[in-house]
Amino acid sequence: MSDSRAFCPRCGDPVPERSADEADAADPLRPGSEVDLCDACYFDEFDFVDAPDRIDVRVCARCGAVYRGNRWVDVGAQDYTDIAIEQVSDALSVHVDVEDVAWQVEPEQVDENTIRMHCFFTGVVRGTPVEEQVTVPVKIARQTCTRCGRIAGDYYASIVQIRAEGRTPTSEETERAEEIAHDIVADMEATGDRNAFVTEIGETDDGLNIKVSTNKIGKKISNKMVEEFGGTINDAETLVTEDEDGNEVYRVTFAVRLPPYTPGDVIELDGDDEGPVLVRSAHGNLKGVRVTTGERYEADYEEGASPDARKLGEHEDAVETTVVTVEDENAVQVLDPETYRATTVSRPEYFDPDAETVPVLKSRAGLHVLPDEGETEEPT
Ligand SMILES: [Zn+2]
Ligand SMILES: [Zn+2]
Repeated sequence: MSDSRAFCPRCGDPVPERSADEADAADPLRPGSEVDLCDACYFDEFDFVDAPDRIDVRVCARCGAVYRGNRWVDVGAQDYTDIAIEQVSDALSVHVDVEDVAWQVEPEQVDENTIRMHCFFTGVVRGTPVEEQVTVPVKIARQTCTRCGRIAGDYYASIVQIRAEGRTPTSEETERAEEIAHDIVADMEATGDRNAFVTEIGETDDGLNIKVSTNKIGKKISNKMVEEFGGTINDAETLVTEDEDGNEVYRVTFAVRLPPYTPGDVIELDGDDEGPVLVRSAHGNLKGVRVTTGERYEADYEEGASPDARKLGEHEDAVETTVVTVEDENAVQVLDPETYRATTVSRPEYFDPDAETVPVLKSRAGLHVLPDEGETEEPT
């Protein structure tokens, strides 16, 4: 076998023998590679770069998503040139035999929707440096993606109604609800979920309505609100339509009912003569502190967060007034902030005998010493 010679199967010219290693490495799936072409024949049909005549890209004009495969994908591209470069790199391929491939691209903006991509390739094949230049026009088609179309069409699958029992929700509560809705959607978007969005947030006479794109988001917002503020959730399904596959599509309304009293409220309980209660928590059973004695109060299980009561005021309404004298364990004299008369009031446990001034609330139930601001929150 030592004097066997190889010949080019195309032109019959002798070709240098391959080493044993190279022969062993011949790809059995490519029988043509068993015998090498001579360099002349090889380069005759060598095609370095395979490029399409043009590339069409569908881009959402609203959010910048790109249509890829059969769906819209967020690519986080800053501009259409970035998108064009990415699409061109995906669409071009180079011959497998070439080593040390390098390429660069120069985009040329032809018009608003056309970017001509000039690509320069270099590499080495059969020990010979090769280079090629290809120009591929990228046509940008500006469209509206499914999500943006739905947002524009006011699509929603779920409504969260933020309401409160016997009152309207506070601005703190409604602002927090908006924040929670946006946070939940942002978290879902961050995981690549393109179906998560807030369609609309609207104030009503008795609260706030939040329309969202999926029932799951509605449920999450409701749960988070009740986790933070207490209250209850009722959900109700409404059949709205059938989808393309004939499945029934339900819209779910989550009615969040926040508790009637919030931390900081001072209330008078019906049929109770132990004095007003400063509310500290509305989670589960209403909890607070008696402003007459400083004793802890907790509503019965049956009463939950809404025992029969009337609101007298809020901690915010309290004013600092002068302590005149401490009478005994149960009584203290303070200046009535309206009449400036020294008035005897009950002395709660939290009263500091060294204090020169204390916050007091004057209501139809009388004058009461409140704990200092910051002591109204139930420690969690
Ligand atoms: Zn040949
Ligand atoms: Zn879009």
